Amino acid sequence: MRKILIVGAGQAGLQLALGLQSHGYEVTVMSNRTADEIRGGRVMSTQCMFHQALQHERDGQLNFWESQAPKIEGLGVSVAAPDTIEGPGETQRAINWLGKLDGYAQSVDQRVKMAGWMETFAQRGGQLVIHGAAVSDLDFFARKYDLVLVAAGKGELVSMFERDAARSPYDAPQRALAVSYVHGLDPRPEHPGTEAVRCNLVPGVGELFVMPSLTTSGRCDILFWEGIPGGPLDAFQGIKDPDEHLATTLELMERFTPWEYARATNVELTDAGGTLAGRYAPTVRKPVGRLPSGGTVLGVADVVVANDPITGQGSNSASKCAASYLASILERGDEPFDEEWMRAAFDRYWATAQHVTKWTNAMLAPPPEHVLNLIGAAGQLQPVADRFANGFNDPSDFEEWFYEPDKADAYLGRFTAS
Ligand SMILES: Cc1cc2nc3c(=O)[nH]c(=O)nc-3n(C[C@H](O)[C@H](O)[C@H](O)COP(=O)(O)OP(=O)(O)OC[C@H]3O[C@@H](n4cnc5c(N)ncnc54)[C@H](O)[C@@H]3O)c2cc1C
Repeated sequence: MRKILIVGAGQAGLQLALGLQSHGYEVTVMSNRTADEIRGGRVMSTQCMFHQALQHERDGQLNFWESQAPKIEGLGVSVAAPDTIEGPGETQRAINWLGKLDGYAQSVDQRVKMAGWMETFAQRGGQLVIHGAAVSDLDFFARKYDLVLVAAGKGELVSMFERDAARSPYDAPQRALAVSYVHGLDPRPEHPGTEAVRCNLVPGVGELFVMPSLTTSGRCDILFWEGIPGGPLDAFQGIKDPDEHLATTLELMERFTPWEYARATNVELTDAGGTLAGRYAPTVRKPVGRLPSGGTVLGVADVVVANDPITGQGSNSASKCAASYLASILERGDEPFDEEWMRAAFDRYWATAQHVTKWTNAMLAPPPEHVLNLIGAAGQLQPVADRFANGFNDPSDFEEWFYEPDKADAYLGRFTAS
């Protein structure tokens, strides 16, 4: 029986651990928090996951919350038109459309999912060690396991993995992040019966994402500001009080996205842990970490490819990485998990992940004219809106029509021709 250690009990670590466990591997998961600590702690993400990523969970029979979580059928884009400000709080929308997803998306609070998956892993006989692993621990354990995977997210263990400068165009955070989980948000008047993620773009300032989710107290909505650092949305640093965090969120909504504020006048936080603020630099790293005594470990998901959440891809990528690594491990059979195999396993994942990184980094920059044209055209052309929405499920599709002006023109030209 092959012995595998996974450090980190997040989307990638637990999905992979449960997958390996179901194939008879002897798996140990090391987590720096217990299930109860996760469940009772602070929110970690907005974790909206699209069809392909959800399908990996279904394939592993891990979709425990699918029937309870809101089914997100659409993804909409609104763009604020600051030029049309008619008075305080009356910023208008230059663009406002809703694309239809081919398969629904869902967001299950990671506090619910990770706590539940962790308990399931232990109930199925998996060994769960509650310990914040240091490099010295890994050095010791690497000799006792056939393979050590580091799935510890963006924490300190990333220092074992060299930054891949060629794949990391940014060396500083591009957005200041501020999340509030709320109850009491009114439905969107334009489509009250359709659950949707709404991306509100405020040019030169940042973005407000609004999405339905399932949290510890049932259905909720998430208000998520992404602010350009140093700008007016970069207002959450130093706020400790969750109520003050929500009040700041709402003030900024009233000022920059009044159409969203209008349905948020009765919201309250889901719980005292329902807020989060922070920032990080999007970074791709080399996949193999070297231990002081010469052993090697393989980085997983955010450890090796951490994108800004502006495109809501990290949990999706974590699911895809776990599925890809699971296939690579199973195919390896009894052969050694050497460095060459580790690089090959990562390259297989990178074939998918590179599209996510390219698209996410593009969305962090001011949009070029042809992208503005595409987003504008989606307001008149439903197929363009639908294609944009479904790109969140499979960002490789953007290669065909999004990045280069001539491809964008050719794509839009198809509609004028017909
Ligand atoms: C504000 C925000 C919004 C987001 N919104 C979305 C979204 O809508 N859609 C989407 O797909 N993605 C989103 N993401 C990204 C997504 O949450 C992450 O990319 C995803 O959770 C990464 O999964 P992971 O398993 O790699 O790491 P994590 O989920 O970070 O899990 C790592 C785990 O390892 C543990 N750990 C850390 N260090 C150690 C240690 N030394 N020893 C033991 N355990 C350790 C951590 O406590 C954690 O439990 C968002 C992220 C943020 C910050």
